Amino acid sequence: MDNILPAYNDPLFSILVIIILILIVAISSFVMGSLKEKKKHNTLNDFLKEFNRKEHLLEIEEMPFEPTLIKPLSLLAEAFSNQGEYQKSINLYLYLIEHINDFSDKEKILEQLGSTYLKAGFLKRAESIFLQILHKYPRNIKTLYNLGVVYELLHEHDKALNTLIPLNILEEDTSSLEAHIKLNKLLDNKQLSNEEKVQKLKALLENEHYAYRRVIQALFTLDLEVAWNSIQPNKIDSIVDILWFLPSSNLNLDIISSSETLLAIYLAKGYIKAQERTPKSNIFAIDTIISVKQTGSDNIDLVFNYGCRKCKQHFPISFTRCPKCYAIDSIQIKETLAEKKEQTGYSLL
Ligand SMILES: [Zn+2]
Repeated sequence: MDNILPAYNDPLFSILVIIILILIVAISSFVMGSLKEKKKHNTLNDFLKEFNRKEHLLEIEEMPFEPTLIKPLSLLAEAFSNQGEYQKSINLYLYLIEHINDFSDKEKILEQLGSTYLKAGFLKRAESIFLQILHKYPRNIKTLYNLGVVYELLHEHDKALNTLIPLNILEEDTSSLEAHIKLNKLLDNKQLSNEEKVQKLKALLENEHYAYRRVIQALFTLDLEVAWNSIQPNKIDSIVDILWFLPSSNLNLDIISSSETLLAIYLAKGYIKAQERTPKSNIFAIDTIISVKQTGSDNIDLVFNYGCRKCKQHFPISFTRCPKCYAIDSIQIKETLAEKKEQTGYSLL
């Protein structure tokens, strides 16, 4: 050894060897890290190329990128998305993602891109984006919820249920969401007979996490007898529109006559004759119609619209998930008086 390395016995030489080794390791780590980051960046870009930005031209492709553009362009993309201009919004998000190098800086923009795809109805694209985010940030709660919405809309109930596992680990309370998804799964189940579904639905009425309105609505389509027998007087105001639009042939007069509220609803509707004692529902619009009827007029009807308790938006049709903010069990039924128009056979079922 002494012949090969004459200064081997010199302690300074040993220190030099150690320093060289440390330098080699440090440089290798740096090069490997850079290559890995570049590969990740390229993978994401390749993935986003699948979305073919040419579909959504906004003439910004040639615009030189500056980091100062990130904030204003993000806000502009969000504004487009809120106005329903999804293609312009998507195009801006893709432009930003293409030009931002660090994945952590892209996370928020990817979230917004995924949400915009979701709102625009590109469910598979939304799923891909959300999975990309979760691949890198599996604890992203908002994305986990959004992914669940995508699977719900795709009727992939088991996958939707799977999104609850990480949410539970992250200590999110998912009891109502789990009930919501399981009810979707039950109602979609083609293997079960109607009788089996009815039995399962009846059992769910005992579970506070299941939305009463949804269960009763399903029962009215499957078994009128069970549905009428499952009506809970203190929850009638949450299903008043369903009851209002029931065809007269679907009424159960025995049950109706045992409840003052039900009597008032169908007296107002004109399906039953005036009673000796005028029933009161304590639902303002219903009681007003009855009062007007007593004056001999019969030209007032009810119209319903539906509000979301969470985002306060209103919609003309009923929903199980708010179309705007995707909240569950947030529906508020609002009945208003309107002039009666001729209509036949309209039902919510
Ligand atoms: Zn809402």
